[in-house]
Amino acid sequence: MKRILLTGGAGFIGSHLSSFLAGKGFHIICMDNLITGSKDNISHLLKKSNFEFIRHDVTKYIDVSGKLDFVLHFASPASPVDYLKFPIQTLKVGSLGTHNALGVAMAKGAKFLLASTSEVYGDPTVHPQPESYWGNVNTIGPRGVYDESKRFAEAITMAYHHYHGLDVKIARIFNTYGPKMRKKDGRAIPEFIEQAMHDQPVTVFGDGSQTRSFCYVTDLVNGIYSLMNSGMNTPVNIGNPDEMSIIELAHKIIEMTASRSEVEFKELRVDDPKTRCPDISLAKKDLNWHPFVKLEDGLQMSIDWFKGK
Ligand code: UDP
Repeated sequence: MKRILLTGGAGFIGSHLSSFLAGKGFHIICMDNLITGSKDNISHLLKKSNFEFIRHDVTKYIDVSGKLDFVLHFASPASPVDYLKFPIQTLKVGSLGTHNALGVAMAKGAKFLLASTSEVYGDPTVHPQPESYWGNVNTIGPRGVYDESKRFAEAITMAYHHYHGLDVKIARIFNTYGPKMRKKDGRAIPEFIEQAMHDQPVTVFGDGSQTRSFCYVTDLVNGIYSLMNSGMNTPVNIGNPDEMSIIELAHKIIEMTASRSEVEFKELRVDDPKTRCPDISLAKKDLNWHPFVKLEDGLQMSIDWFKGK
């Protein structure tokens, strides 16, 4: 049985990966310090013989017994609200945490996959964003703690590849949504669904003309799995190029929940990227992957899940 160390395995994306990979017959060692993840996300897996949970902060030395075939490094706060609340932890998990996770992969002869982010492109001046774009990041702005920690994480991952010959993969994950996002996560989709479901004002920051491209979590997980099993060693965008403005998203969610909510415009977050859309040509060509789930279908599944909470 192939064994995987999955850091951040109790988080939103991590827990979907935990379920998916446990279902594929891998042995999962799920490591999380639960600052933004939750044991509820993995409660259905805890009794499985091929799943172990270890509560641990990966910025501290990681000690895992037995062999490992993969180290998947998904630990990090990922919502702007969270990384503003935990700026130092965010910087540490991307830097010290990535270093430790790479060290375990080296020691065990395992392949390494880094969960990176579209935030490495910052507020992009190239649109859509291909992997070859270097980005436009304000190092000292409020988002810099996340953006720079992930940029460092990519740099050290590539250094381990070039210097130590470690087999590495880097997924640049664009906005992802679906069940298991926290209600108070602060990100647009859970926030809008919760507000609309309770007929509360739907808070759109700025004039809502900024764009995002939202990928349903099962599509994302399939993309990560394809990347894991590929021979690629350079960053790959994984996301859905179906781009829309935030005001359009707000209206769509109000309509889909048959809500009486009105849109309330609030101050735009500092350094909020004006546009974001992945160029996924590389993933299509080299991973033979592309997303399937349409926004309406993904939103409906998310709304149903939030209703059941
Ligand atoms: N946003 C918003 N209202 C909210 C939460 C988010 O208008 O209550 C906007 C935010 O300004 C950004 C977009 O929605 O332009 C996506 O924000 P999110 O926090 O989901 O992730 P980001 O892509 O900024 O990391």
